[in-house]
Amino acid sequence: MIEEGRTFVYGTHYWRPPTPLRDTHERNLAHIKHDLGFDLVKFRMLWNWHHREPERFAFDEVHEMFDICDRIGLAVLIEVNLESAPYWLERVHPEARYVNANGRAIELGSQEATPGGGHPGLCFHHPTVVEEAQRYLVRLVDEFKGRPSLYAYDCWNEPHLEPAWCNMMWGNTGDFTFCYCDGSRREFRQWLQGVYGEIDVFNEAWGRAYTDFEQVSPPILQGNYADWLDWFRFWFDSLAENMAWRVRTIKGRDPNRQVISHSGAVPPVLPRAGAVIHNWKFAEPVDKWGTSFAPQAFGWPLSTCAMVAEVTRGAARGKDFWISEMPGGASNIRGFRRSWPPQPEHYRLWNWLTAAHGSRGTMHWSYLPERTGQEAGGYGMMRPDGTDNPRSLAIAETARRLKRHEDVIMGWTPPTQVAVLYDPDISSLLFAMELTDERYGKTHTGYYRAIWSADLLARYLTPETLDDVREPVLIAPMMLVMDDATAEKLARYVRDGGTLILETRTGLFDRHGYMRATLPAGALAEAAGVVEGEAVCSDPENQPTVPTADGRILVDPDADLPDLDPISLGPPIAFSEPVKTSVRAHGYLAPLELRGARPIAAWGSLTLGAHHAYGRGQVYTIGTYLGLAMDKRIAEAVDLVRTILLRHARPVVRGNRLRPRMIGDGERAILAVFNDHRREAVTEAVPVPERYMMATDLYTREAVAVVGQAVELTVPAEDCRILLLER
Ligand SMILES: [Zn+2]
Repeated sequence: MIEEGRTFVYGTHYWRPPTPLRDTHERNLAHIKHDLGFDLVKFRMLWNWHHREPERFAFDEVHEMFDICDRIGLAVLIEVNLESAPYWLERVHPEARYVNANGRAIELGSQEATPGGGHPGLCFHHPTVVEEAQRYLVRLVDEFKGRPSLYAYDCWNEPHLEPAWCNMMWGNTGDFTFCYCDGSRREFRQWLQGVYGEIDVFNEAWGRAYTDFEQVSPPILQGNYADWLDWFRFWFDSLAENMAWRVRTIKGRDPNRQVISHSGAVPPVLPRAGAVIHNWKFAEPVDKWGTSFAPQAFGWPLSTCAMVAEVTRGAARGKDFWISEMPGGASNIRGFRRSWPPQPEHYRLWNWLTAAHGSRGTMHWSYLPERTGQEAGGYGMMRPDGTDNPRSLAIAETARRLKRHEDVIMGWTPPTQVAVLYDPDISSLLFAMELTDERYGKTHTGYYRAIWSADLLARYLTPETLDDVREPVLIAPMMLVMDDATAEKLARYVRDGGTLILETRTGLFDRHGYMRATLPAGALAEAAGVVEGEAVCSDPENQPTVPTADGRILVDPDADLPDLDPISLGPPIAFSEPVKTSVRAHGYLAPLELRGARPIAAWGSLTLGAHHAYGRGQVYTIGTYLGLAMDKRIAEAVDLVRTILLRHARPVVRGNRLRPRMIGDGERAILAVFNDHRREAVTEAVPVPERYMMATDLYTREAVAVVGQAVELTVPAEDCRILLLER
């Protein structure tokens, strides 16, 4: 029985037709409930699978599974999938197919994550598609809302502009960029008209000479940045409205059950600008938010795993969040190639790591391995025949321990000491610049390395949600786009006592993608006490290049090109404060002219770092992109930022080489200690908050001596120790 707000919900995705086989449900579901001890299973309800003819719905296999779950007391999460439209609808409305930037309409079919077909669905910018989807949604809710085992609806799996995530091995960027159908073009024009009102106002913003909004097309070339910024903003709004429509439709039929959703990628962690993911907007209308979580697929270090949880919590903005898809096994890369398979110990590590960053439950993807297509043989926590393996046994053990201490986990909210500003517009801008927002992702994962290694917790904010910063430090990395209002909010935060970290070229472009003549932007110039000089493209990896006629970049060591000047090659920047160290410039470099700030870093005669006391707070301005250096694990860069953070923010517990995190702060609490070294076991004395006198290892059940308000621990490489603390 799941008690909202009290139960740490544990479960697994179970059914995505055609997996698993129909005659195995009774045995599988009983095993999940009775042997693994889970609360919840998820069924993915593919539109094309259940809505086979306009007036014929096929739900009998789902009813069979519900009969079993009702009987054994296993809760069910229905996952709505409208990204698999019925073929009869495609036949009647071929114009509703998604169209890519190369002009190709995408026919419905089977895809990697939708082996049951109907992918990628039809474009919602056609009224008939919305009508028919609504009819399916209403019928689905009416069909199952009377079921006692129905827990909630996950109304959208991994929301994004659906076809932009295809695994088309032969595609180019145009094949991956959507949607250019007539319906989307019409909606885009209406959206522009709603935003700008008059054509002259619009022309001013885009730098054009239209006489009517009917003349405007979505961008397909690398032109003005305004086009791409607005095109992606249009999609953010359009997808957010689609989410709100799903919630309204479901709640209209079943008002007392929760409607939730979860992200598939957590920008800025994964570079996927073309998929148009704005999780702050998507999470707004739902009751609970979540994320897929795939360390094995992307080789994430523990810091990035923690960051995914923190960004998800940031987007949830106070609502509960959970890990909606934790891998049950290896994931596909392509053909023979698989990611590394998770080991049994990873389930303890990942579960406690995400719980320590505020997660309130875990679902696995998936119970059995997929049977066909790119995912075949992957993801399952069980053997294909439904029997246990060492992973499933380890998962069940950790699930039991999490649930045994759910009072500690559920009754606590992580205290954050650092705020980080993230703006989806910057991903859009980078897509317009270089077809990928990878650099923005690296900048952020780089900064999180410093936050993580300082044992601090971060809250991620967007410019729209920037009004309530309570944390003592705010980092604004790679802010290539910024409007004056945001600059003013940041300046006010500093005047009120905050510590702000800025990088080079803050507010380089206004919100329409036009370069500012002076930087930093707006009120930040006064707050930072500097003005930027001319910026130089500078990076240790720069080499002489020239563009070719077809848009590629020529890197040819035999070409007779002039050598680059040292200023372009990431020269070493010598910092005098807050630590004496040296870090090479990354990405760009812009000298700072001091207007009240003190210099803290230089290369030769150029000032490249400044500190400015302003109001009751202060600003650190760095004349390059330190996040890019930290993403490359350059220790001096991480140390520099960590030192700034620890000067102004205090962690709850502080480790040396180990990363301790507290869960809870009451009579009992949990101390989770992580070792992020990939290959090396680490032993050290980890401090224990003063009020706790006793420590017990949750897994061995042995007492651990608290000596001098610390516990001596050895943690194996990339692993954790979990201690229950008592007074
Ligand atoms: Zn469309």
